[in-house]
Amino acid sequence: MLRAGVDLGGTKIQVAILDPNLDVVGQCRVPTPQDHGSNGVLDAMIGAVGTALTAANATADQLIGVGVGAPGQIDKAAGTLSHAINLPDWMGTVEVSSVMRTALGVPIELANDVQVGVMAESRLGAGRPYDSMLGVFCGTGVGGGVVMHDTLWLGRGAAGEVGHMVVEPDGAKCTCGRRGCLEAYAGRAAMEIEARHRVKHGHKTDLFDIMEHKGRTRLASGVWAKALAHDDKMATRLIKRAEWALGLAIASAVNLLDIEAVIIGGGLGCRLGAPFVDRIREQMMPHLVLPERPPQVLVAALGDLGGATGAALLVEHTVAPTEQLGAVLDPDA
Ligand SMILES: [Zn+2]
Repeated sequence: MLRAGVDLGGTKIQVAILDPNLDVVGQCRVPTPQDHGSNGVLDAMIGAVGTALTAANATADQLIGVGVGAPGQIDKAAGTLSHAINLPDWMGTVEVSSVMRTALGVPIELANDVQVGVMAESRLGAGRPYDSMLGVFCGTGVGGGVVMHDTLWLGRGAAGEVGHMVVEPDGAKCTCGRRGCLEAYAGRAAMEIEARHRVKHGHKTDLFDIMEHKGRTRLASGVWAKALAHDDKMATRLIKRAEWALGLAIASAVNLLDIEAVIIGGGLGCRLGAPFVDRIREQMMPHLVLPERPPQVLVAALGDLGGATGAALLVEHTVAPTEQLGAVLDPDA
């Protein structure tokens, strides 16, 4: 019996197929269709599940369910997704679960993409040895999640918005419209706006040449990594600024929650890896109330597959009725 997880993002759709041991036995990655609205995106997700099943040498009848991690506002009970501003032409409230269920013939579970990514790190990734952790995912924005006693703390549904912790009153403008949030310093979208602003004011950088050379239209994580490796001054300064902001916000969260580990993930976190995480730890240390026993600060272990793996974990591992019956009749079966 297999379960599938779909990580729905603004640029790509990643699918992972998990076997009963939670090992990834098949996967598929396709670009998110940009010009056919939500119908195009739903079709691409359904197609990618099929391709991933083929890669796992499996068929649809072996599937017990599909989990979907998606950005935006999720109504779990209704199976709908709305306010997904990072998805192309995602207008209003879209029925995701019913459409996918009809196409794939199995139950569909829907949840927030960052929350499933954090749960995946907690259960199968870098957070596995710890009972409590904070996940900080640096990508286009900065998302996060708090795990306590191996359970994601949801609050009233929106807990874990570490990206909007204030690190500087009246500071840089955040994509949420407020000022001084962590995301305004450590989210890729805000960092790109700041880089363009600095270029406009005569500062020099290779960031945009590297971007064009890589055939990208945005400052993707790989662009930042390359500029950093080439000692580009602006890139180094902006990454340092991100590390400073992350250190401050994480220290505040640790002082409040006293968690055992902090896992840094997301596109930028995974790409910049251990050196980035080490510098964030250095920035965090002076602000800890108990510096003699700091939390572990680690790079996310599941990388690009974390979101899809976490989405698959949404599917309850139910045993088919015939197997249950067999187990009752023959305990050794
Ligand atoms: Zn904000």
